[in-house]
Amino acid sequence: MEIVKSKEQMKAISRGFKKEGYRIGFVPTMGYLHEGHLSLIRLAKCKSDRTVVSIFVNPLQFGPNEDFQAYPRDLERDIPLLEKEGVDILFVPEVEDIYPADYQTYVEVTHLSSGLCGAFRSGHFKGVATILLKLFNIVKPDLAVFGEKDYQQIRVVEQMVKDLDLDMEILRHPIVREEDGLAMSSRNTYLSSEERRSALSLYQALKFVERLILGGERDLTKIRELTKEYIESFPHTKVQYVEIVHPHTLQSVEEIRGPVLVALAVFVGKTRLIDNKIIDL
Ligand code: AMP
Repeated sequence: MEIVKSKEQMKAISRGFKKEGYRIGFVPTMGYLHEGHLSLIRLAKCKSDRTVVSIFVNPLQFGPNEDFQAYPRDLERDIPLLEKEGVDILFVPEVEDIYPADYQTYVEVTHLSSGLCGAFRSGHFKGVATILLKLFNIVKPDLAVFGEKDYQQIRVVEQMVKDLDLDMEILRHPIVREEDGLAMSSRNTYLSSEERRSALSLYQALKFVERLILGGERDLTKIRELTKEYIESFPHTKVQYVEIVHPHTLQSVEEIRGPVLVALAVFVGKTRLIDNKIIDL
């Protein structure tokens, strides 16, 4: 595996791959890799000829009171995991190379970014869309793989690719969970053992909502309230939102007629966790 720091070198490598007629598969990450990331990489690898993974903790997508500084980083641990998966290129740019002092261009996917996490993390999806467009321009992938764990992010990137006519495909990978159901996340490392037990409330709440809806409950306010109560019956939990939205537009549904996306954001102690599930009627 080649480790590339400079974006100019990354562009040159990708131009070389293209010239050889290779399909480039790309998985952007913020590192501190777990089985969720590795599953995305396996999908990229089987759909392409050369696999590029990036590790970049993007300052632009963190708010001033968020965990940019504290975000877990361990390249020495990540590198052998990527080598084992047969990744061809690891791209690890420096913040100064990506955002030089005179940087001033941003990408905004307006409607899809406004609700759910976007309502609480101002500027987050603008930061996400901007870094992804830059990484796509540097890596020039034919396909990129994203996890449904960050469902709103997937919709934002799909819309950006469509709206800006990017010549590439976005593949989705289902949420990868721990054995007990907790969605894998680099942020799970922040949890104490007691908080780890309460973190399971998200997954269990999604199953709880599913039982309610499949059991015939249609009162959206009641479903949201019962779910919040359910989650907050676990110690150290504070619900940020429980939303029931259309899986494509991410707009709140007024009634449940077709499939809906149930999306949750919950603080467990100081750690903010998200999870979601599509409930198919
Ligand atoms: P991150 O490093 O958190 O920015 O995530 C990089 C990519 O991995 C994103 O496309 C995430 O949606 C995806 N991802 C993270 N955790 C999971 C998970 N548990 N299951 C599936 N995909 C995931």
